[in-house]
Amino acid sequence: MKIHEFQAKAILGVYGVPVPKGEVVTTPVEAGRAVERLGGTAVLKAQIHAGGRGKAGGVVPVSSPQEAEAAAKRLIGSRLVTHQTGPEGRVVKRILVEEQVTVGRELYAGIVLDRRAAGPVIMASGTGGVEIEEIAANYPERIVRVAVDPATQLQPFHIRRLALAFALQQPVKNLAAKLFPAMYRLFQEKDCSLVEINPLVVTAEGRLLALDAKLNIDDNALFRHSDLAELRDLDEELPLEVEASRFGLNYIKLDGTVGCMVNGAGLAMATMDLVKLVGGEPANFLDVGGGASAEQIQHAFRILISDQSVNVVLINIFGGILRCDRLAEGVIHAVRSLQVTLPIVVRMEGTNVDQGKRMLVESGLKFITADGMQEAAEKAVKAARQQKAES
Ligand code: GDP
Ligand code: MN
Repeated sequence: MKIHEFQAKAILGVYGVPVPKGEVVTTPVEAGRAVERLGGTAVLKAQIHAGGRGKAGGVVPVSSPQEAEAAAKRLIGSRLVTHQTGPEGRVVKRILVEEQVTVGRELYAGIVLDRRAAGPVIMASGTGGVEIEEIAANYPERIVRVAVDPATQLQPFHIRRLALAFALQQPVKNLAAKLFPAMYRLFQEKDCSLVEINPLVVTAEGRLLALDAKLNIDDNALFRHSDLAELRDLDEELPLEVEASRFGLNYIKLDGTVGCMVNGAGLAMATMDLVKLVGGEPANFLDVGGGASAEQIQHAFRILISDQSVNVVLINIFGGILRCDRLAEGVIHAVRSLQVTLPIVVRMEGTNVDQGKRMLVESGLKFITADGMQEAAEKAVKAARQQKAES
């Protein structure tokens, strides 16, 4: 789960990481008043669940309450498109009004859960800011990475190695040494998958400040953080994904045309791989779960086909707990009641497979059946191409 910058900063503050003074507003008038309270100058920052706002005009310095009001009028309700939002962008609903800071240097500090290291990896760089992606791609050696063994935890030598990357002089150097333990404690205690401060700045007065903050929380741990779960902003999530989560379906929208309905995350991944291997593009990841009911299948179908870019549905099910006859029943019912006209490729295997196949044939509906996964993927991609050619 992602949260907003202002929420992440509030949490960082609790853990002792210095953040700029600021407040969140939802109207231009409030923005003007907030700037007044800050002494007449401020930076307005659009609150959306995506980075790249600086380059896209979502971070606006202002030097009077009037200017703030005008800028807020432009920002609130507008659609901000950054390189992280996709072309559809995000509608700005809130603005963080923050004290203006005179930036001396921009640094980078982050902690991610790294699968290869099988634990947290802390990163630090002496050159942070809006170009961090380019730096990571072109000068990876400028980013120091330290893997922390969860069994032995963060050690002083880790901190020294990371702080060195900042190339700071005293007394700011000491402030940096305090930063990593605070970030690490937050990362652990809140079950984060990401804690990122970019930029971490040294101000002209020699303060160390988190000028931007990103915090992602492991969804599977939300049950033990009811305070964090409340921060979820459904407006920032794709409507289809929110809808799917209501029915216990694991759905992630992608850019292709082959709608995939699969049970089990591993099989879903393998299916997507196969679709790509035979020259197609999956429109989504969808794991209906091991014990999906006919009703869930119906919801899954509805969600799949309401994505306009889907022009073929590929069903790949291994019937274990979810028996093939129950799947067939769900699919037939869904196709009838939703009046699906798209081609549907079905490949199933497992418990009651013969009964399931018979039901599909006897339904009188036009299913394209396949025996193996590869064959199913090939048929789906072929059907997708034909649909495209016809339309
Ligand atoms: P992002 O582009 O979405 O990551 O948004 P950031 O919060 O990182 O802001 C982008 C850039 O705006 C930062 O890298 C800073 O260079 C600049 N910026 C943000 N707030 C201030 C501020 O108070 N003073 C100054 N001088 N620059 C700021
Ligand atoms: Mn940033």
